[in-house]
Amino acid sequence: MPTIGELAARYRSGEATPTRVVEAHLRRIEALDPKVHAFVTVTRESALAQADAADKRFRAGTPVGSLDGVPLAIKDVICTKGVRTTCSSKILENFVPPYDATVMTRLTAAGAIMLGKTNMDEFAMGSSTENSAFFPTRNPWDLARVPGGSSGGSAAAVAADFAAGALGSDTGGSIRQPAAFCGTVGLKPTYGRVSRYGLVAFASSLDQIGPFARDVRGVALLLQAIAGHDPLDSTSTDVPVPNYLAALGQGIQGLRVGIPSEYFIEGMDPEVEKAVWDAIEVLKRLGAKTEKVSLPHTDYALAAYYLIAPAEASSNLARYDGVKYGYRAPGSKDLIHMYGRTRAEGFGQEVKRRIMLGTYALSAGYYEAYYGKAQRVRTLVRRDFQQAFERVDVLVCPTAPNVAFKLGEKEDPLQMYLCDVFTIPVNLAGLPGLSMPGGFTPGGLPIGLQLIGKPFDEATLLSAAYAYEQATPWGSRTPALT
Ligand code: GLN
Repeated sequence: MPTIGELAARYRSGEATPTRVVEAHLRRIEALDPKVHAFVTVTRESALAQADAADKRFRAGTPVGSLDGVPLAIKDVICTKGVRTTCSSKILENFVPPYDATVMTRLTAAGAIMLGKTNMDEFAMGSSTENSAFFPTRNPWDLARVPGGSSGGSAAAVAADFAAGALGSDTGGSIRQPAAFCGTVGLKPTYGRVSRYGLVAFASSLDQIGPFARDVRGVALLLQAIAGHDPLDSTSTDVPVPNYLAALGQGIQGLRVGIPSEYFIEGMDPEVEKAVWDAIEVLKRLGAKTEKVSLPHTDYALAAYYLIAPAEASSNLARYDGVKYGYRAPGSKDLIHMYGRTRAEGFGQEVKRRIMLGTYALSAGYYEAYYGKAQRVRTLVRRDFQQAFERVDVLVCPTAPNVAFKLGEKEDPLQMYLCDVFTIPVNLAGLPGLSMPGGFTPGGLPIGLQLIGKPFDEATLLSAAYAYEQATPWGSRTPALT
C-alpha cells in the first residue's frame, strides 16, 4: 500500500482515487484484522462517504491539502463525534462522544479519512495492549507477540497496512514503544505542541497526542496538520509551527548528536544495543558529530513516573462513577453502593492498581513523601536534559531495552513497567521523542531507534530521522502477513 506522501501524488495525478484506496484498506482490514485485532471499531460507512467527498474534490481540482483522501486509524482514547470512544475499557464500552477532539477537527479539515478506532491498553495504562478489556492486539511481524502499548492497535494498523497513518497518545512511551515493536515511525511531540482537547485524560502533565506512519515524511505531514495552539486546551502552547516538510532532506552535516550513557544498561537486549551503535555509525557517516553525554538522574525517572502518573490518573478517573459517563452497575441499593460496584465492575486490574497507587500517593501524610518528592525528582530529570542540550542538538538511544515479547510473557507489572525506562524520562521533561526502525533482529523483529529533541524542535528530529531513513533499508521492510 502507498505511503501518505505517495498517496497525495497518486491522487493528484489521477492514478488513484480516495474511494479505491479506502476500499482497498477496508478489504485488507476485513481479511486480516481477525488475526491482528488492531481495531475496536471500523467506521466503514463514514469512511466511504468521506472518500466519496474527497474523490469529488480531486475531480474538481480542489483538494484541501496533502492529507486529502488519506485513510487513518485513530486510537480509541481520542473523542470522535458520534463514534464510540471506549479507551478499551468496559466502563466506556458504549460511550459516544458528542464532540470531536481538536486533532479530529483538524484532520477532517485537511481531508483525512478515519477508517476506525484502534485498540489500546485500558485508559492507556500498559505497554503491550494486553490490558484492553476487549481483546489483545497482535504484532503483525509475529502474531504470537505483542505490538507494544498502549497505542498497540494504532502501531499494528500502520505496520499491517490497514491504514496509511494513525494517531496515538504517549504518556510514558505509548507511541514510541509500539512504533518500535511494530517497525513504524512514531512521534511524541513536545508537551503543548498538539492540542489535547478531546483526548481522554490519563496523566494530564504527561499526556500528548502524536502520529504514526510508515515513513518519516508521513509523520511530518500528520504533525503539520495537528500541531499548533488551540484555545480549547489551556496547556497547548502558542508558538509558531514550522514547515516540517522543509526540514526533510536538508542533511545532517555538523549535527551534534549526544549519546546518553545511562541508556545502555545491563540486561538490555544485546541485539538492540548493537543496532543502536550501528545506527550511530550511520549518523556519523552522514556528517553528524557524536559525543557521549550523561543524564545522571535517569535511574530515578521510572519511580517518579509511577507516582506522578497514577496520582494524576486517580484524580482524572474519578469522573467514571456511573453517573456522568458510561457503564453503571445495575441493581444497587444506594448511591455509594452503585459507585463502588460500577468502578469494581467497570475497571480492569491494571487501572485499579493505578488508582489505588495514586490515591495512596496523594493521601494526607504521604503526599510530601511520595508525590512531592517525585515532583522534585522530575525537575532533576528535566535539568539533566537541559544540560545535555547545551552541548548537543539531539540525543540518540534505544526506544526500549527489548523487542516485541510474547503475549502473556510479562505477568509481573514491574517487568512491564521496565519496558518504558528509555521513554518515560522524555515525558517527565516534556520533550519531543521519535521512534523509527533502526534494524531487525536475526529472527526478523523490528528494533526501535529513539531520537530525543529540544522543546518544540520536532523539525530537527524529523530532519535527522529522514536522513537516517534514507541511508538505511529498514523502512522498506514489511511484515509477511497473509
Ligand atoms: N506504559 C506506560 C504506562 O503504563 C506508559 C503508557 C502511556 O504512555 N500511555 O503508564
